[in-house]
Amino acid sequence: MDLPSYTPADAPVPAGTVVVERASTPQDVGPKLNRTAADVVRFLMQQGEMVTATQSLSDDMIELFAAEIGAEIRLVDPGEEQEVELQRLLEMDEDVTDAIYEAWPHRPPVITVMGHVDHGKTKLLDQIRNANVVAGEAGGITQHIGAYQVVRDGRAITFVDTPGHEAFTAMRARGADATDIVVLVVAADDGVMPQTVEAINHARAAEVPIVVAMNKIDRENADPNRVRQQLADNDLVPEDWGGETIVVECSALQNIGLDDLLENLLVVAELEDLRATDEGRASGVVLESHLDIGRGPVATVLVQRGTLRVGEPVVAGAAWGRVRALITDTGEQVREAGPSVPVQVLGLSEPAVAGNRFVVAPDDKVAAKVASTREHWKRVANLGREAHAMAGGAKLEDIFTQIQAGETATLNLIVKADVTGSLEAVTESLRKLERDDVKLSFVHRGVGGITENDIQLAAASNATILGFNVRPDRKARELADTEHVEIRTYEIIYKLLEDIENAMLGLLAPEFEEVVTGEAEVREVFRVPRIGAVAGCMVTSGVITRNSKVRFLRDGTIIWKGAVASLRRFKDDVREVAAGFECGVGLSDFQDLKSGDIIETFEEREIPRI
Ligand code: GDP
Repeated sequence: MDLPSYTPADAPVPAGTVVVERASTPQDVGPKLNRTAADVVRFLMQQGEMVTATQSLSDDMIELFAAEIGAEIRLVDPGEEQEVELQRLLEMDEDVTDAIYEAWPHRPPVITVMGHVDHGKTKLLDQIRNANVVAGEAGGITQHIGAYQVVRDGRAITFVDTPGHEAFTAMRARGADATDIVVLVVAADDGVMPQTVEAINHARAAEVPIVVAMNKIDRENADPNRVRQQLADNDLVPEDWGGETIVVECSALQNIGLDDLLENLLVVAELEDLRATDEGRASGVVLESHLDIGRGPVATVLVQRGTLRVGEPVVAGAAWGRVRALITDTGEQVREAGPSVPVQVLGLSEPAVAGNRFVVAPDDKVAAKVASTREHWKRVANLGREAHAMAGGAKLEDIFTQIQAGETATLNLIVKADVTGSLEAVTESLRKLERDDVKLSFVHRGVGGITENDIQLAAASNATILGFNVRPDRKARELADTEHVEIRTYEIIYKLLEDIENAMLGLLAPEFEEVVTGEAEVREVFRVPRIGAVAGCMVTSGVITRNSKVRFLRDGTIIWKGAVASLRRFKDDVREVAAGFECGVGLSDFQDLKSGDIIETFEEREIPRI
């Protein structure tokens, strides 16, 4: 490699903090820090990293170089600095003082329904809607646009009707708080379940009030008192027990108690004093979005302030366009939509990203410029993600920097384990690691595999995920990559504790990293004489190779670990099978296979010590 000019080691570095974009190349970083690209490349070579002058660098590489020459830097996402400028162009920044806020009119509350699967979220949302639908003008047909509004005693309530907390947390991860109140649905017969706890944690993390809908009260085996106890155990002490949590007994099936629920929601809304102006350019949040063959990109947005009108230029992330039509949840075309009103917007250039903010721009030119600039930075950021993924994330490392800065550091953790016993054991042992200067905060603890929900919650709350005898599924892994969430999985408790303790000491340097090389789903299990169980699989990603290390997952939990003993396609022994193909996998001594199990092959790669 040609390495021309070389800056003397004692050459001065820029004074103060230099802002450096993630994924910068040596060519960008060098000159910013009064060095040449060659200096950066040469230094990284010494560290065992072979990079070229035009290659994107990982955060670690950039930080290491800055530390080496004694420069102070602040890493920002590509486009982050420009975003400030874009927001200025959109004239978004405006201080809302208390006096201004209080002069605004009240707005309808926005409700998200969360709870354990099958506890009746969908039924509740449907029933509330059907019982309270306002007869639309001329022939409106109920539409599922991702949110709807009902009117009760002349006051509107908006429900975001994407059941499950994915949408809720995806939004929060992007900094958009669309929900004012969470309705926590708990089935009176089933009680508080893992996803109920998850929902509570999501709502708490967002600091949103919770109203409990104790559903299925019609069931014979409903046990309201037991549920109250369970709620109290989770710090949701019911009002009738002297606490502050509103618990409404209801049956979504028989339409019992739902009026009561709505009335309570209005009471909470009043206490929250929710207000918004309907004047000025509209802004809000994208709830969902898709590409419609006939209508082009369709986005459901929730207006949060101002009034959105047909014909106005709108920007949402990198999408923009003039509003061609606004369609409400009753299928009516309207000319405008005010605060807390969900509407479908037609006319955007591409599907907007759920959770992104939308705003009406001062004019078309500004809207187009903002969108295209964001598009550019989105591409740059993607390059950076790749560089970052290559080097592996390092969220836990931040903790030491905080400790060193003399702050009381808090390490945010999400802990997932295979069974309650190990979850308790892990948590208890972790608690013992707490010191005066380092606190642990358990954002969420749960039993089961690591899911997209966990990743979203981690991204929203800046947490690291620890898995004990559990693994992330493929979707979770992919999301973790894009959201920069660090997942650490363990099968030995002291290894886990050692890692966290080391992180607190600034010594976090895992020696091995497991890289998943292939994934297959068991479709059928065959018994073959002398060989035993053989799993008929479909390879869903990567490559399955004979002799590679493998683990078996059932519902995200590791049930067996070993090696692939035989690998066949039809009758032939093969060395490897790639994604999209079927194969037969034999395992040395594991017989307890079931269809639906996931086979994950992996390699252990040594991470070079720096
Ligand atoms: P989700 O997964 O939380 O959205 O739950 P669903 O709304 O799909 O409800 C799951 C099942 O419980 C469905 O079969 C519903 O009909 C039933 N269900 C919902 N609410 C009630 C209720 O209040 N009482 C009874 N008995 N069944 C209900």
